[in-house]
Amino acid sequence: VADPPPLRVAIVGSGPSAFYAAEELLARRDIAAEITMFEKLPVAGGLVRFGVAPDHWHTKTVDRVFDRTARREGFTFHLGVEVGRDVTVDELMTHHHAVIHASGAAGDRRLGVPGENLSGSHAAREMVAWYNGHPDHADHTFDLTGHRAVVVGNGNVALDVARILVSDPESLRSTDIADHALSALVDNRIEEVVVLGRRGPEHAACTTPELLALGSLPGIDVLVDGPLHVGMDAPMKMRILADYAGRTPTPGNRRIVLRFGCKPEEVVGVEHVESLIVADTDTGVTEKIVCGLVLRAIGYRGTPIAGLPFDDEAFTVGNVAGRVVVPETSEPVVGQYVAGWIKRGATGVIGTNRYCAAETVESLLDDHRAGRLAAPTASSADLTALVHARRPDALGGGDWRAIDRHEREQGRAAGRPRVKIVDATAAVDVAIA
Ligand code: FAD
Repeated sequence: VADPPPLRVAIVGSGPSAFYAAEELLARRDIAAEITMFEKLPVAGGLVRFGVAPDHWHTKTVDRVFDRTARREGFTFHLGVEVGRDVTVDELMTHHHAVIHASGAAGDRRLGVPGENLSGSHAAREMVAWYNGHPDHADHTFDLTGHRAVVVGNGNVALDVARILVSDPESLRSTDIADHALSALVDNRIEEVVVLGRRGPEHAACTTPELLALGSLPGIDVLVDGPLHVGMDAPMKMRILADYAGRTPTPGNRRIVLRFGCKPEEVVGVEHVESLIVADTDTGVTEKIVCGLVLRAIGYRGTPIAGLPFDDEAFTVGNVAGRVVVPETSEPVVGQYVAGWIKRGATGVIGTNRYCAAETVESLLDDHRAGRLAAPTASSADLTALVHARRPDALGGGDWRAIDRHEREQGRAAGRPRVKIVDATAAVDVAIA
């Protein structure tokens, strides 16, 4: 008896959830699968490359795991191809049994206060993408001439940007930070970053290991504004915060000041940010914090995908266990699945996406076994021809590895993990050289 034809799945995106979903499907012994992965940028990794802070180099080494998946039999990569722009989901469906959307959360939440659009007020997301060399964000400029910056929000992303802003540029020279960001940070005059939390310290959104690591960086003081007394049996995070509250500033150090229980009311300035008015959450008493830069780090959020139901409050595609469903009727949208941040919202660390992708793959395989997925009508060769007709400069897995090799070689010469190619055209040139 001939083997059944392989299950063919298109995956949109190349971040952790995309690769974990691919691995779940390709590592199985009970089913033969073929994966076509689409990434709109010429390089893979999603937020592992463009989100995780450059000084957290070890975290980024998860890209080796992704590379192993990409080398598996049955895996085809199309980079520089945006689903929805270069190929449609309907077209993908003629070549696959199913599509897994793992496209992440590319937008951000806004503060909703007056003055938010002044120059000098940005989403932390923009700064993160800038210092990590995202090709669409290389041209941003941030005013680093003032002595103080305020970061609104106190999750891990807030701590990342605060840390980068007070880091000695010399210490960043040995990371994979984008060269344009390093040059700008050399002239950085920011001495203090105030990190604002709307609620009390017990609700600080950052994780305990991140908070702890922050407190032992050379040349940087981490302080908590106001007294904070906790008992010995208080949770670890509170004890760390109490320690920071008891510290005194070291002359000459840059500092991060964590403030709790206050919310932004207005960003003030004529053309450029001059201060931020904040209000005490309990008393409503307002105060002005003089600053030249305001970064909102209050969350990434997903954006709608054409043709799929979208939850405007959770900023996710409507789904049950990764299976896309119309919320009003609970009817599944046949062949459509989601994984990662577009499925569950912009929370969770890299590893969280592994369980998330596994759940989605389980739903997909259940549907496949039950005969609920239509067989593709066109071949993979047809798809490759279509992709190259639409995007003649599309890259494949070998090209991605050539870019990776090039970046690492350049990095070795400079004592860095890699020197990132930022410009998308330059990346294509290196790949085809
Ligand atoms: P993403 O990683 O965002 O990947 C989505 C991919 O889809 C992107 O490559 C995007 O270009 C692509 N894409 C989007 N639309 C299309 C389309 N239409 N066609 C083709 N491609 C498309 N976790 C940790 O464990 N440790 C950390 O130190 C850490 N630091 C972080 C720092 C920041 C600033 C942020 C924001 C997150 C951080 N995280 C960290 C969390 C981690 O990065 C996320 O959990 C994870 O990246 C989410 O994975 P994802 O696959 O859902 O989305």
